[in-house]
Amino acid sequence: MPNRPPVSPLIQHPISAQAEQRPDHFALVLGDERVTYGELEARSNRLANLLRSQGVRRGDRIGLLRPKNADALVAIVAALKADCTDVAYEPASPAPRLSKIVAASRPRWILTVPESAELLDASLHEAGLGEAPLVMSLAREEAAGSHFRSRLDRDDWDAADSDLPPAANDGSDPAYVLFTSGSTGTPKGVIITHDNVVSYAEWFIGHCGVQPGDRHSLHPPLPFDLSTRDIYGTLLAAAELHFVPPEANLLPQRLAELIRASELTQWISVPSIMNYMTKFDVIEHGDFPSLRRVLWCGEVLPTRTLMHWMERLPHVRFTNMYGPTEATCASTYYDIETPPTDPTVPIPIGAPCTGADVLVLDEAGKPVATGEIGELYIAGVGVGVGYWEDEEKTAAAFVANPLAAETGHERLYRTGDLGRRDEDGVLHYVGRADTQIKSRGYRVELGEIEAALTSLTVLRESAIVAVPTDGFEGHAICCAYSVSDGADVTNASLRKLLAELVPKYMLPGYWHRMDNLPKNANGKIDRRWLKEHFTEVIEQP
Ligand code: AMP
Repeated sequence: MPNRPPVSPLIQHPISAQAEQRPDHFALVLGDERVTYGELEARSNRLANLLRSQGVRRGDRIGLLRPKNADALVAIVAALKADCTDVAYEPASPAPRLSKIVAASRPRWILTVPESAELLDASLHEAGLGEAPLVMSLAREEAAGSHFRSRLDRDDWDAADSDLPPAANDGSDPAYVLFTSGSTGTPKGVIITHDNVVSYAEWFIGHCGVQPGDRHSLHPPLPFDLSTRDIYGTLLAAAELHFVPPEANLLPQRLAELIRASELTQWISVPSIMNYMTKFDVIEHGDFPSLRRVLWCGEVLPTRTLMHWMERLPHVRFTNMYGPTEATCASTYYDIETPPTDPTVPIPIGAPCTGADVLVLDEAGKPVATGEIGELYIAGVGVGVGYWEDEEKTAAAFVANPLAAETGHERLYRTGDLGRRDEDGVLHYVGRADTQIKSRGYRVELGEIEAALTSLTVLRESAIVAVPTDGFEGHAICCAYSVSDGADVTNASLRKLLAELVPKYMLPGYWHRMDNLPKNANGKIDRRWLKEHFTEVIEQP
């Protein structure tokens, strides 16, 4: 007998309910591979039972270090069913960065693949965990290193019991921890609960009218917040989740082909991908006849890109979504009612999603007047618990609401974004109050790159600035540096050294070697000068 869900649903309960009602509907689609809701249910139950039988306990972290595929998705659901917290690790991450995330998350169990064994080994070594996590690799050959050995494989998974294990969690328990770039060089783990996800997914499904059998894209990598919207906004509604292979990102023609061939009904991506598809002109007039909605999130979409898409796809609805990982996927939305005519007018971020609220406050924490720019603070059902085991950063970003009596929300998340509310109550994004940027869709703290550069003894000085561009990448990351006496450094050799410390998407695209970095009147590195310099270089390549 399946166990009955408690009153406040955990994420997995609506998925189990869909499996009961529609066991033969497809849940996951990866090229020719298809996993039905019935199979997703049985396989995730089996893995959850296997985890439990291996001594995994409520609240333990389950680390996933593996490619985005059906097993990874099943494992995420299994982790939830075992009352655990899912932590997705980036298989493309350099070991020094991954080790910080592994050390912070202290996983009890890690699911990996033999191809990631070397990275895992180095990360476990550097993380220096007291108790080694249990590691499982699904391939027949064992994944192993000096610091771990995988003893479980797919046979153990297949042999486990397929009944839904009883849940001890409630909605306030963490569902996942997502590690995002940290300005001091250490990634921050954002804790998101079952309640956060279920509230957001319910709003999203209702607003977008997601129906059983709809076909939705899964574009982002799993360690990023945008993937959770795609996963739960699809699986909670019995729709089909169509995986976009990462290698297709660099081939806009293939992305268009995938939307066409899979007859997707909904497509979500970051603006840089939409820019890229526009640049390569891969969308025909009246293309993608099945498509009903295109959404984007994560950075500013140039209005002329939207004009291009809307002109090519007049049958499609377009929605801008805004929000940080800390407040669960998105907190505001703006449905475009009429195609813009002026490419210089930015697209609004609109109004709060149901259950969310956005305050525009000045530096003293007071609401600014209509039309004036302030910092955006988010309240409501999506606001997460805080940062994983980091009280200081949590206290700085998750603050008491000075307007709690009027708005009913006790806590606010301080976004670091600047914005304004116009006379019609519509919200507009204006920019950042700090040095966090989006580059190629990835959230990057410039301070994290600078911290990595500072650890390189071949450099005497270094600075990172970001320059907004009209192109695919959004912001261009630029590095100025001077070299330590006697050190033999070129742009290429420096890039190589840095690539051992930060992910590829954080690597600067522009370099400037100087004898001394310019200083302002306070003796600090003159970042404004550097920004102007790189802007000129980028504009006149
Ligand atoms: P992430 O946590 O990776 O989702 O990044 C959150 C940040 O991305 C926000 O704080 C904003 O700075 C930016 N962002 C998210 N959505 C939008 C949007 N629709 N328009 C402009 N910036 C956005």
